[in-house]
Amino acid sequence: MIELEHVEKRFGDHVVLQDISLRLSEGTVTALVGPSGGGKSTLLRCVNLLEIPTSGAIRLGEERLEFAPGRKIGWPAVQKLRRQTGMVFQNFQLFPHQTAIANVMEGLVTVLKWPADKARARAMELLEKVGMAHKAEAWPATLSGGQQQRVAIARALAPSPRVLLCDEPTSALDPELSEEVVEVLSRLAREGTTMIMATHDLRLASRVADGVVFLDGGVIVEQGSPRAIFTAPERERTRRFVASLS
Ligand code: ATP
Ligand code: MG
Repeated sequence: MIELEHVEKRFGDHVVLQDISLRLSEGTVTALVGPSGGGKSTLLRCVNLLEIPTSGAIRLGEERLEFAPGRKIGWPAVQKLRRQTGMVFQNFQLFPHQTAIANVMEGLVTVLKWPADKARARAMELLEKVGMAHKAEAWPATLSGGQQQRVAIARALAPSPRVLLCDEPTSALDPELSEEVVEVLSRLAREGTTMIMATHDLRLASRVADGVVFLDGGVIVEQGSPRAIFTAPERERTRRFVASLS
């Protein structure tokens, strides 16, 4: 279970997330949708503590952290929770001076201190899963955007995180390349990978997500199945947003 309890995030006086409560079961995929500036990226960044929530609590499996203004969260606690997450970014962010397989091995070797052989075997297994084994020795700059993103997904999955967080994983890709990434994410979803993804891509959300959360102005306006949110939203704000996409 992944749980956010009354999470609030402020930057100074600016409230960016307000009273966000979500319970997500293991093995499910949740899409965060909503207008630009609605708080999708900040919410993902709060789950892996790239941003520390101002108040509220986050639970990932056994780990639960409570936040309050002025309360310091120790680095070991941050690390413990963060290690349960993997993050995929819009712009891939592969290490440019490492081959595809070295990118996937990096965290296993440097953070988890795995021996190189074991890390290489695990990395190869993941590259196979995302259809990139044939490019294991390639440099990022020689790969297409879709290929780079698939390597980035393998890298994020390498330490077996409890949840994969994806921030606009297809936004930087043209439709054809985006399709290969949607395919991979959709396969991972079928295999039971727990994911939270921020996306403007309705096709991705409808194909991959079990649940959709519509976020506007830092609050959850509405949530439901992709079908409910995209075809029969209840709230006027959601309706306007969905209409603006098509
Ligand atoms: P987009 O669809 O454009 O990616 P989003 O839904 O991901 O938007 P966020 O990036 O989470 O939105 O931003 C939500 C709000 O938080 C915005 O008003 C943004 O300006 C503000 N914000 C985000 N990060 C910071 C920061 N580090 N400092 C101050 N304000 C921030
Ligand atoms: Mg964003």
